[in-house]
Amino acid sequence: MAPARPGRNCPRCPRLVALRELWRAREPGWFNAPVPAFGPREARLAIIGLAPGLRGANRTGRPFTGDFAGGLLYDTLAQYGFARGRYDARADDGLELIDCRIVNAVRCVPPENKPTTDENANCRPFLKQDLADMPNLAAVVALGRIAHDSIIVALGGRPAATPFGHGAIHTIGDLTICDSYHCSRQNTNTGRLTPKMFRAVFAAVRARLDQ
Ligand code: SF4
Repeated sequence: MAPARPGRNCPRCPRLVALRELWRAREPGWFNAPVPAFGPREARLAIIGLAPGLRGANRTGRPFTGDFAGGLLYDTLAQYGFARGRYDARADDGLELIDCRIVNAVRCVPPENKPTTDENANCRPFLKQDLADMPNLAAVVALGRIAHDSIIVALGGRPAATPFGHGAIHTIGDLTICDSYHCSRQNTNTGRLTPKMFRAVFAAVRARLDQ
């Protein structure tokens, strides 16, 4: 049985352990460990990311911090009242999340940002525990299809019956699940996700929470 939280040397995914060891040797000043959730446990909103970026969360130790995706995410969160302070791409920049907590579906950096199905399954007990630790959880934003599928399974649903779609809103039990394309550089550079499209997802979440 998995412990409630992964230790720094969690051994469950051999491929990710090997990458972690490689980067610990190359960059001993980086975080290089399973990245913990960020934000208050009392929050009503959980944002589910895919996995740490190599030079982002894997380096800084805070989700979406230090690489491109964080700029758009934290700006958008601030616009909708889910963040306070200035995001400065450092874990010690003083940014605070309000009523919102960010959790990655997979906590260790995967090669090319692509965790395998097994790695998603290995890390899911930690995702489930994080959700269980949020007593006021009412809504989830899933960033990308892999995070969407992982959260649906974690909540006891079936991805085939609850398919991912940008802007789609699903209900499982008392929880609202809102889907968005991931705010990666690739998605924004190709125009798959625009800041306007991303804002619309958080506007919908804010409206639901304020009902
Ligand atoms: S991804 Fe999750 S399960 Fe796999 S080694 Fe890292 S913390 Fe452990």
